[in-house]
Amino acid sequence: MRIVIIGGVAGGATAATRLRRLSEKDEIVIYEKDKHIAYANCGLPYYLGGVIKDRMALSVQSPLGLKSRFNIDVKISHEVIEIDTKEKKVKVKNLENGEVFEDSFDKLIISCGANPRKLNIKGIDEAKNVFTLRNIGDTFAIDDYININRPKTALIVGGGFIGVEMAENLQKRGLKVSLVEALPQVMSNLDFEMAQFIHAELNNHDIEVILNTSVKELQNEGKVAYLSDGSKLNADIIIMAVGVVPESTLAKNANLKLGPNGHVQVDSNLNVLSQDGKPFVDIFAAGDMIEVTSPIDNSNYAVPLAWGANRQGRLIADKINGYEISAPKIMGVGALQVFNLTVASLGMNEKRLKAKNIDYAAVHAHRTNHAGYYPGASMISLKLLFDKKSGKIYGAQAVGGEGTEKRIDVIATAMKGGLTAFDLADVEICYAPPYSSAKDPVNILGYIAENVSKEKYIPFYAEDIEKLQKEKVFLVDVRTEYEFGNGSIESAVNIPVDSIRDNLDKFPKDKNEKIYIFCQIGLRGYIASMILKHNGYKNIYNLSGGYYTYKTYKRQLCATYCEAPVKISGGDSQMPEDI
Ligand code: FAD
Repeated sequence: MRIVIIGGVAGGATAATRLRRLSEKDEIVIYEKDKHIAYANCGLPYYLGGVIKDRMALSVQSPLGLKSRFNIDVKISHEVIEIDTKEKKVKVKNLENGEVFEDSFDKLIISCGANPRKLNIKGIDEAKNVFTLRNIGDTFAIDDYININRPKTALIVGGGFIGVEMAENLQKRGLKVSLVEALPQVMSNLDFEMAQFIHAELNNHDIEVILNTSVKELQNEGKVAYLSDGSKLNADIIIMAVGVVPESTLAKNANLKLGPNGHVQVDSNLNVLSQDGKPFVDIFAAGDMIEVTSPIDNSNYAVPLAWGANRQGRLIADKINGYEISAPKIMGVGALQVFNLTVASLGMNEKRLKAKNIDYAAVHAHRTNHAGYYPGASMISLKLLFDKKSGKIYGAQAVGGEGTEKRIDVIATAMKGGLTAFDLADVEICYAPPYSSAKDPVNILGYIAENVSKEKYIPFYAEDIEKLQKEKVFLVDVRTEYEFGNGSIESAVNIPVDSIRDNLDKFPKDKNEKIYIFCQIGLRGYIASMILKHNGYKNIYNLSGGYYTYKTYKRQLCATYCEAPVKISGGDSQMPEDI
């Protein structure tokens, strides 16, 4: 059997090597239009920051390596320019000499990836300092530009995964970095209050973050950028990181079925579809160019991350070798390093749940990553979104120190296994003081979800507070006098949790009146809620994530290091209340 693969990186190279492991008989050929195959795209920003020093380290495999170990024929600098689905042929252009030839296949795997989205702004064509980052060629072009031109200032356009990673890495390279994002926050997969941790971390590393703003025009060959707020920025180098679009022109020209955003649609066997929805059983697609299914509501969407490409590549090889497969639903589990922070998330955030009219509950928890008494503990802030009745998990977000991504991995595994938010309380997690607490942050999320579901109290949120202040509700800070003195929410009265039983006369006479309580992270607020509940009060609300979340939510951007309400470790009043 002759198997042709288009694209020799994540999906394509994985499929190829698995195919060979499953059969020695097949002819396997990879066409890759680039000069490199099987390279580590995810490592590219770290090469530019000097964290990965060796250019060679970025290549996981070479054409020679794939030939000698796997007997795979790799044709680099060969672009497939046409697919004939009927005759089972591809037309290929040798980019070195311009020669065009045909090749036939018994099975075809398409894994063409995604291209950086291009911004159509005035002056971009004249600019000599604008780069995107997708592959090794782009990486070396940026590296060479920096080495030759010694830029002092960098403008990053876009605050997604690649934009934030590039901001950090160019800062580490010694450039003064500004990041401009059109949305009100970076990392749109997170909710605003969680993204605020990233804004603070970037600011605190001297990176200017400009939100709600877009780049309108470039002048002076790209050295000056005019922004939508009327201001201008000097930029010796510009990195455009405004998302990706599927590289699906080939598929479109072959009349394959595409989704609304140009992604190739596939069935559960990862077979591409004809316009009338029938599968081409000998043609498969994988990776960034395909639509995947969300396990949350079975809707189709795209997740341009490496896990899916690798998993799909392997499954396609299995299918070709006669095994039954079922394309996995993809929840979008992803992680990002931002200086000293780890950011991890999965599933839907509040914005997406609202847009889809899915009713959800949100809870926050701030816990140390391991026992507070064991040296070096740092905070992890977590958020869980779930169905209040069934407990079905819709999404989770975490930002913090060491072990942050592990918590999201545990929740991802729980989701995959069909566990609910309430089951998280029952997940038995490794514990010794250097690693966790006997009640792991994941367990705590389960406890809080259960409390909220059983209406032990009703949560309210940082974004509700302005409205509540206008309504002049009874707002109580149950932290200590000392903490209250150090800053609280305007209009709150202070009745520390330990003195509530002696101060019940300070609460409204009408036990049906709404009482809004908050503490530092939510735990003392819960205890206070229960004391009041047992004293007959009926409508008690507890601020989700407490004052810590509120302060983070309200934090203002600043150009450089400034007040750090979102400091991750230390500070008595910022550590979780353990009992
Ligand atoms: P790719 O790996 O992009 O491979 C597609 C290949 O197909 C390309 O080499 C392309 O040249 C080739 N090709 C396209 N068209 C043709 C054609 N007509 N003929 C021949 N060859 C063709 N994901 C994560 O999960 N975590 C991360 O930390 C992360 N970091 C990233 C950092 C960067 C800078 C980038 C660019 C991506 C990152 N990703 C990350 C995303 C991840 O790399 C992709 O999801 C993954 O590589 C997709 O695999 P793929 O096979 O679909 O496409």
